[in-house]
Order: sequence, then structure tokens, then C-alpha cells
Amino acid sequence: MNGTSCSGNNEDPFANAKAHYNPNNCKHPYHAGDLPPLIENNGFSYMNVLINKFKLDDIIGKVIIIHDMPDDFTTQPSRKFWK
Ligand SMILES: [Zn+2]
Repeated sequence: MNGTSCSGNNEDPFANAKAHYNPNNCKHPYHAGDLPPLIENNGFSYMNVLINKFKLDDIIGKVIIIHDMPDDFTTQPSRKFWK
């Protein structure tokens, strides 16, 4: 979560979403915008997160991207997978 649009181009369909929200210049997976893994069951998922890495006003209007493949928690920046 950093950009304000999920739009992009043919090469990077989410380019305008920008990088992970990272106001403290940390490495991934310690960005303020790195949320816990989202677990799905039969195509459905629900997440409730209690987090103190940002305040609500810091992220209003920013996009949230759900990656379609698991994070390895080491690749810098995080891996991108497009289908
Ligand atoms: Zn990150």
C-alpha cells in the first residue's frame, strides 16, 4: 500500500500502486505496509489485523495489493507474480 491507483501498463499492470508502504525505510518484510499472510479457503478469505505500524490517516486513499503467490519474506523487493 503506497500508491493511490491499481492501474499500470502492459509490463507492470499495477505500476501505479507503487512499492510497499515504507515510511521508515525498512527492508521487506518489515515495511509498515507488510501485512500478515492472507489465508484462503475455497477462494474465500477474511482478515482482521491489529497493527501499530501505521495510523489509519496514514493509509487512507492508498491501495492494498493482494499478491497471488506466497511471500518468501527474503526477496528484496518482494517478488511480483502476474498471471
Ligand atoms: Zn514489503
